[in-house]
Amino acid sequence: MSTLATRPLTHSLHYSQEVLNRVSFLRKDPQFLEDALAHNETQFVPFDNYLPYVNERTGFILKLKKAEVANLTSQGSISSNLVFLGLLLSQKSDFVYKSKYRGTPTFAIDVSIQRLSDSSLLDSSKPYKKVESFRDLNKLTVEDSSIVSQARMYLQWLDTHKFCSLCGSKTKPVYAGTQLKCDNDDCKSNKSVSNSCFPRTDAVVISAITNKDYSKILLCRSGMPRNKERKLYSCVSGFVEPSETLEVAVAREIWEETGLDTQEVEIIASQPWPFPNNLMIGCVAIADDTQTPDLTHDCELDEVRWVPCSALERILKLEDSESGFIQDESTGLNLPNDRSIAHMLMGFVVKKSAELRKGP
Ligand SMILES: [Zn+2]
Repeated sequence: MSTLATRPLTHSLHYSQEVLNRVSFLRKDPQFLEDALAHNETQFVPFDNYLPYVNERTGFILKLKKAEVANLTSQGSISSNLVFLGLLLSQKSDFVYKSKYRGTPTFAIDVSIQRLSDSSLLDSSKPYKKVESFRDLNKLTVEDSSIVSQARMYLQWLDTHKFCSLCGSKTKPVYAGTQLKCDNDDCKSNKSVSNSCFPRTDAVVISAITNKDYSKILLCRSGMPRNKERKLYSCVSGFVEPSETLEVAVAREIWEETGLDTQEVEIIASQPWPFPNNLMIGCVAIADDTQTPDLTHDCELDEVRWVPCSALERILKLEDSESGFIQDESTGLNLPNDRSIAHMLMGFVVKKSAELRKGP
């Protein structure tokens, strides 16, 4: 069995940084929200169809001031297209609440209905363009990608939960867009402890499969239609099911997809994945490499291949290509880029393999 080890609080993956103090307890405080909305430093990050804009000159996500969003929201109050994200930690700010909560108040604003291009208030000195693709998201800084991830998850959830699942009445956002409440006072949901609908986060386990001496990794090529062309080799992943431990979920997914029995599982790190609302829980699983893979259970994979860590080490260091992932022509192995947890997990195994080869 692996020994328990502590893990660092943060890592360098996209979508994963703590750049805002969420002050979640202040979302219910009307005075705080009023002060935050009224402050002249407060910033609003616009989203259209859950995607941000970037300033073409700087590459940073577009952030607007109060005057610039005045005709996109009901000024001075929380409206249905606003979500409070938190207090930005990195900037010096004059905003202080109750003399101890500091930082620039930051909101996400959904401008899908009234697009920025329709707003006459935008200063033409700000050349901006909408982020259109996954590749564009990859170019964001880690800090910006983390703000985008949090905002996307809330905005998509608000947009897809407009009706109460119990009585079918409309729901309304409360606590600055971070919870939903049924609009029907007689609804059972308003009379019990479950009187609100909370945003959902779906747990997904993703696992690099290695052998007992960490000399190889089993790379897996998905048979999903969108992967047919790009031929990406990666880790095994899947949703955690109700009442399942993470370790059991890893072993189940590995057996269902590859037919291999898992001997040990170690949880390494996690990464929010806002497509649409997942938390990727990265693991390393050890499996006996003398077993014969069987891809015929759920038929999700087209191919699996044991690759020596010594060969993978070189490929993981390559820059990603225009396609947004690593392409190694000499081996035909295309791998996820270094913003993904799959890449981090493979790197973790490769590093451990090198240490073991070197010896004590
Ligand atoms: Zn209801």
